[in-house]
Amino acid sequence: MSSFLDRLGVPRRINAAGTLTRLGGSLMAPEVLEAMREAAASSVDMAELQSAASRRIAALTGAEAGLVTSGASAGLTLATAACLAGWDAARMAALPDTSRMPARMLMLRTHRNSYDHAVRLAGAQIVDVGHNDRGTGAGVRGVEPWEIESAIDSQTAGFVFVAGAGGAAAAGALPGVVEVMHRHGLPVVVDAAAQLPPAANLRRFVEQGADLVVFSGGKALGGPQASGLLIGRRALVGSALLQMMDMDVHPATWAPAELVDTARLRGTPLHGIGRGFKVGKEEIAGLLCALERFVARDEAAQAEAWAQRLRAVAAGLQGAPLLQTVLREAGPGGRAVPVLELRVGPEGRADPAAAAALCRRLQDQARPVHLAEDRLDEGVLLVNPLALAPQDDAMLVAGLRAALAQGAVGTEAAALAGGPSAASTS
Ligand SMILES: *Cc1c(COP(=O)(O)O)cnc(C)c1O
Repeated sequence: MSSFLDRLGVPRRINAAGTLTRLGGSLMAPEVLEAMREAAASSVDMAELQSAASRRIAALTGAEAGLVTSGASAGLTLATAACLAGWDAARMAALPDTSRMPARMLMLRTHRNSYDHAVRLAGAQIVDVGHNDRGTGAGVRGVEPWEIESAIDSQTAGFVFVAGAGGAAAAGALPGVVEVMHRHGLPVVVDAAAQLPPAANLRRFVEQGADLVVFSGGKALGGPQASGLLIGRRALVGSALLQMMDMDVHPATWAPAELVDTARLRGTPLHGIGRGFKVGKEEIAGLLCALERFVARDEAAQAEAWAQRLRAVAAGLQGAPLLQTVLREAGPGGRAVPVLELRVGPEGRADPAAAAALCRRLQDQARPVHLAEDRLDEGVLLVNPLALAPQDDAMLVAGLRAALAQGAVGTEAAALAGGPSAASTS
C-alpha cells in the first residue's frame, strides 16, 4: 500500500538542516497530531478556543495574554497592527493605510532583516536607529540611549527588537530599549521566532519588559508548521486577536473573545488586516499541545539524547574521505541544541566549494539529504538534530558516505563553479 506522499510523487527528505520552513519545519509528536485530529473533527467557537488558548499560554509563559497565530511572521504583522490601531475600530479598518495615525516603528540598524516586510505589511514605516560600526569594522560603538530617544517623535508607534541579533551594546540590549520606549509610553515588540530552546526564553523577554513577543510554532516548539505564538500585554494581544478574527458577525449577537475590551471599542470592527492570517482550530489545538510538551521537557536530557545520536553519526562517518567531524555540545550559556560540524575538503582543509558540491550531491540522491548551510562559506556543514527523525540517522550516514565515495568533491565543485581552475584542468 503506497502512502499519500508516495501517490503524490513527493519524496521524503532526510532533514539534518534544522526546522527550516522551506523543508516543512518541525516534526510533530503523536500527541500533537492527536490534539489536531480531535479539533479537526469538532465544531468550536473560535473566540472561545482562542480565549482558552490565551489562558493556557499565559499560565505557561508568564505573559498577561497570548494568541495562536499562523506563524511568527504573521505575528509580527499582527503585533505591529496592534501597536498602530489599539482599540480604535476606524484605525483597524484603515490599515494598511496609515496616513492618519502615527506609524513609525523604530529598529536598530543592526537588526534589519528580511522579516521587516512583515512589519511594513501592516502599514508601518521602519525607521533605523544607530549605526553598524561593529558589523562593518568601522568602529567600536554600539547604539546609545540618546540615539533611540532622539529618533522618537509624534509619529512613532513602537519599536521592533530582534532577539538573538548581534551587535547589541548595553543600551542596544532589550532592557535598555524598553527603558527608553516605556518612558515615552510606547510599546516594544520582540521577534523571538527562533529563540527556542531554551524554554526559559518563553518568559525572558516579557520579564525584560517587552510588550509583545512572537515565536514560531513550526520550529523548535514542535507545533504545526503554520503556527506561531504572540504573547504579551493583554490589551495589545486583544487588539491583535480582534484584527485577525473573522468579523462576519451581527453586531446585536456578536460574542467577542474574552480578551476583547468592548468598553473601549466605538463599535463592531470589520475584518481586519490579519483576516488573511487565519489560524485553524487544528493549529490552535496542536500548538497548545506542543507548547505544553515543550515546557514539561527535561532540556538537559533532551540535549544529551541529541548529542548521543550525533556521536553515533560521527562514528558512522569515521574514515570517510574528505571529511572531519567536530561535535559542538549544548551547555549552559552556550548553544541550546548540539550540532555536528562536518569540515569538508581535502587534507582537513575546509573548502567552501567542496561543501557546496557535497550539498548538491546529497540533494540529488534518491533519498535527498539536507544539511545546515549557515557556515557553508567556511567549508563547514552542520548536522542539526532538531527536525531529524531518529529513524533517518542511519540513512543520513549512508547518504553522506555514498556522496563522499563519489570522490573529489573539491575538483568537481571547481568545475561546476566554472572558475579558473575548471578552465585549467579541462
Ligand atoms: C523563522 C523566523 C520568522 C518567521 O517565522 P514563521 O513562523 O515561519 O512565520 C521570523 N523571524 C525570524 C527571526 C525567524 O527566524
